[in-house]
Amino acid sequence: MSITKRVYTFGNGKAEGKADMKNLLGGKGANLAEMNLIGVPVPPGFTITTDTCTEYYQLGKDKVVELLKPEVEAAIALIEKLMNSKFGDVENPLLVSVRSGARASMPGMMDTILNLGLNDAVVDGLTRKTGNARFAWDSYRRFVQMYGDVVLGMKPENKNDIDPFEEIIEEVKEAKGVELDTDLTVEDLKELVTKFKAAVKKQTGKDFPESAYEQLWGAVCSVFDSWMNDRAILYRKMEGIPAEWGTAVNVQAMVFGNMGETSATGVCFSRDAATGEDQFIGEYLINAQGEDVVAGIRTPQQITKLGSQRWAELAGVSEEERRSKFPSMEEAMPEIYKELDAIQTKLENHYRDMQDMEFTVQEGKLWMLQTRSGKRTGAAMVKIAMDMLRQGMIDEKTALLRLEPNKLDELLHPIFDKEALKKATVIAKGLAASPGAASGMIVFNADDAAEWAKQDDMEAQLDAEGKRPKKKVIMVRIETSPEDLAGMAAAEGILTARGGMTSHAAVVARGMGKCCVSGAGALRIDYAAKTMEVDGKIYKEGDYISLNGSNGDIYDGKVATKEAELDSDFAEIMTLSDKYTKMAVRTNADTPKDAKKAREFGAVGIGLCRTEHMFFEGEKIKAMREMILAENAEGRRVALEKILPYQQADFEGIFEAMEGCPVTVRLLDPPLHEFVPHDEKGQQEMANAMGVDVKVIKQRVDALHEQNPMLGHRGARLGNTYPEITEMQTKAILGAALKLKKKGVKTMPEIMVPLTGILYEFLEQEKVIRATAKKLFEETGDSIDYKVGTMIEIPRAALTANRIASAAEFFSFGTNDLTQMTFGYSRDDIGSFLPVYLEKKILKFDPFQVLDQNGVGQLVRMATEKGRAVRPDLKCGICGEHGGEPSSVEFCHRVGLNYVSCSPFRVPIARLAAAQAALKED
Ligand code: PEP
Ligand code: MG
Repeated sequence: MSITKRVYTFGNGKAEGKADMKNLLGGKGANLAEMNLIGVPVPPGFTITTDTCTEYYQLGKDKVVELLKPEVEAAIALIEKLMNSKFGDVENPLLVSVRSGARASMPGMMDTILNLGLNDAVVDGLTRKTGNARFAWDSYRRFVQMYGDVVLGMKPENKNDIDPFEEIIEEVKEAKGVELDTDLTVEDLKELVTKFKAAVKKQTGKDFPESAYEQLWGAVCSVFDSWMNDRAILYRKMEGIPAEWGTAVNVQAMVFGNMGETSATGVCFSRDAATGEDQFIGEYLINAQGEDVVAGIRTPQQITKLGSQRWAELAGVSEEERRSKFPSMEEAMPEIYKELDAIQTKLENHYRDMQDMEFTVQEGKLWMLQTRSGKRTGAAMVKIAMDMLRQGMIDEKTALLRLEPNKLDELLHPIFDKEALKKATVIAKGLAASPGAASGMIVFNADDAAEWAKQDDMEAQLDAEGKRPKKKVIMVRIETSPEDLAGMAAAEGILTARGGMTSHAAVVARGMGKCCVSGAGALRIDYAAKTMEVDGKIYKEGDYISLNGSNGDIYDGKVATKEAELDSDFAEIMTLSDKYTKMAVRTNADTPKDAKKAREFGAVGIGLCRTEHMFFEGEKIKAMREMILAENAEGRRVALEKILPYQQADFEGIFEAMEGCPVTVRLLDPPLHEFVPHDEKGQQEMANAMGVDVKVIKQRVDALHEQNPMLGHRGARLGNTYPEITEMQTKAILGAALKLKKKGVKTMPEIMVPLTGILYEFLEQEKVIRATAKKLFEETGDSIDYKVGTMIEIPRAALTANRIASAAEFFSFGTNDLTQMTFGYSRDDIGSFLPVYLEKKILKFDPFQVLDQNGVGQLVRMATEKGRAVRPDLKCGICGEHGGEPSSVEFCHRVGLNYVSCSPFRVPIARLAAAQAALKED
């Protein structure tokens, strides 16, 4: 890469960059430029490009600093001219902020340094210039603290210890007998700076840098370094942001929100990011610096009067008290509020999307520091897109393309059961920071949250598959920091005692779709004792609480949940998706209950009905075991006759639920050993039931043992060695269809042979199916249309798809097995090496979740083309896990599949992703 320009300046209504240069300037840099261009007041500054970050990791620190120097010095000179001050100058100093800004927003994950340019001499100059010694020294001590933490790596040695600078502050406060930071005098602040610097010298062995440029380069490099810190890496992994993107660095003239009562700082959203309501909303703090708001250290006040009144109602604060003690900005600074309101409207109209903005008021003058498309919950995403469509701000295509398919998932999650909620005891209230319902055990730190969430919950009931669920936890913190990310991801919900709606905890939780209640001031949290006290009651680690992220309520114990209720906006999105999509969406369902759910979500058929689960309940498993343990075909037939009525009843239920839509039923697939008892007790029970010696059972079980069952006696190999199983299943499927026909219910059965690899394997099975059908139709004097097709899940089947399509009427790509066999990775054992492969970037993603388009995908493409060459109307679909994953769905669209099939709860996601795929092609 040969870079000719690394720095882009902005200021005073001019900018070298613009909004569509996000890849190069990062989101923040591109929007700072754009705001300048549209006349929004922004402190002048410059952006160092994301390419330079990549270069930094290739060439190293010294080389990149050398390359950057001339451009950065010229850019600083421009800021100096616009601000009429000088960087590092004692009499008229220019101070700057240095912030990260990647292409995609990563709130709080990387580093920020404010007030840069101060030293022992400059602080005096700043005092003279502002006439405000307290402000100057407070800025200086904040700078030394922030720079020490971020650039010089001053961290506590033990992670449970307190930050070394905070420790010094506490000591000084104690010695002076004061409680609040704001009670410290100028002399105290001077003492803090001296002590901070001594601590730096002691821990790092170096003096705190005095030169403004040395400080600047330290800060710039540390922002680049922060791109690779653990929390940024984790965040990227969660959000699918590639490491190659790099971060930009934004250097801007400082404006101060802490210069007294006419100064302030805040964060605001042009619409409500939690609910999507079209209502300007935000928080601010008078006489504070920006970090105080987002770090959740002080709980801020509301910007609008309406927001303030809503807050007061929740907090139980009277209107009189609210107006005198917690006035909104609309009331306390009406002129500034008016200007801010006009700017937020202008920015939302300009970007045609909900904006998340940061601002500072310095002595009565408003400056915008950032605007970006706001992170939002799934519910807000849907509401905002549909409202903007109705308001004529965006068209249908933009509305659909704006939605993140996976976020629809949040809307489908359970909510609290209304009846259970009436009986629940509210123990405290906080801010409704991110909606949802969460119940779980209290943990007090991120490590415990991550650890507990991996442990089995021995008190919970087994799930439908007989597995023990994992522990559900609620992470309870005084305030959260970006380091808590892994814990937030593992927890059901997050509860904080401090912090507002715009604290990082709230923003990140909304981005993750995690339930979050923040700023619950009534909680007394003691990390050391691992307790939380509310109104005299002590909650310990492991005790249950529940959170209502939609109204901020915190409940004692577990509160029951129920299925979500979908609103008309959601329905409209689905209708719109169907208008543009070219692919159908079916579901994978094995029970009438799942089938019904999928129909509600708009599935237009079943793409995969696995029949093996049906054999596990009650009498069925006994008959199945009898079949497997039988000596010969005759014995098997007798046992299968017992299973037949059960199977037929299962299919009747499923066909009925699908209301005449096509249903693909797959013949038995897994190796038989999965059905027999492996423990002595089970074997004895079986021996008793069958009247044979337990030894006979044991021998048969041993005989069924395979070294590698996934590649063993399964799929079409079963039906070919035990054709009577295929006969029974065919009878059950078509028998069910015939019975429903009599009741006037339409059915469209499609019988699917699993794991075909050789044409003749399929032909043999087809022969059995067709002969059984013929016999059944003759016996009943009635008939039904049905199709016979196959799964394509073995590479050989894909390679010989033209031959297989000469007989098969449809293909369904089983991309779980196809991935397994194409990579040669066991789908059950990939966990042992996948994390390392992802870490080393040998793999970009788990191929069992995201379709490997370059490899496995090419087999899908080729098989579709080869199949259709001999059978032009060959219906092709996908039924592996990838059928509900948006990027894989897009690929299926490009290949020209007729449908994707996925689990019921992913049907809406797949419908939207399919529509987006079609729109992207237009
Ligand atoms: C597949 O292999 O993709 C498939 C759908 O079948 P199963 O997961 O049941 O093996
Ligand atoms: Mg399979």
